Amino acid sequence: MPISGECFCGSIQYEISGSLRDARSCHCSRCRKAFSSQASSYALVDHDDFKWLQGAHLLTSYTTQEHFGLQFCSQCGSTLCGTFNGRVHGVTLGCVNGDPDVEIGYHLYVGSKAAWEVIPEGVKVYVEGAPNELD
Ligand SMILES: [Zn+2]
Ligand SMILES: [Zn+2]
Repeated sequence: MPISGECFCGSIQYEISGSLRDARSCHCSRCRKAFSSQASSYALVDHDDFKWLQGAHLLTSYTTQEHFGLQFCSQCGSTLCGTFNGRVHGVTLGCVNGDPDVEIGYHLYVGSKAAWEVIPEGVKVYVEGAPNELD
């Protein structure tokens, strides 16, 4: 069974033929705004495994910094994926359907977390970015 995902309103749907990897949560102030949450919940995907099934014309893109961008539904506002050089680089875990068989392995930039967030005990944390990691 391929992994599938969709936005809140269901207009945009995608399918991933491979597996998700390197799931992480970033607690920096930029991710808080971009994901409208305490942190991002994001996993990497091979571009060739990723396919939009419907609604791709409803995607709006926002380039956050050179090379990196986010794509979200222009109708409901769900952030669906991150892009690198315009190609899908990873997906937001909140829009993945069911169990994609991946767990968040580490938490980045917990030194920048919101004052109101409580980080669970026992999770792997980095005060800043992980070594050799694309944020
Ligand atoms: Zn939508
Ligand atoms: Zn971040």
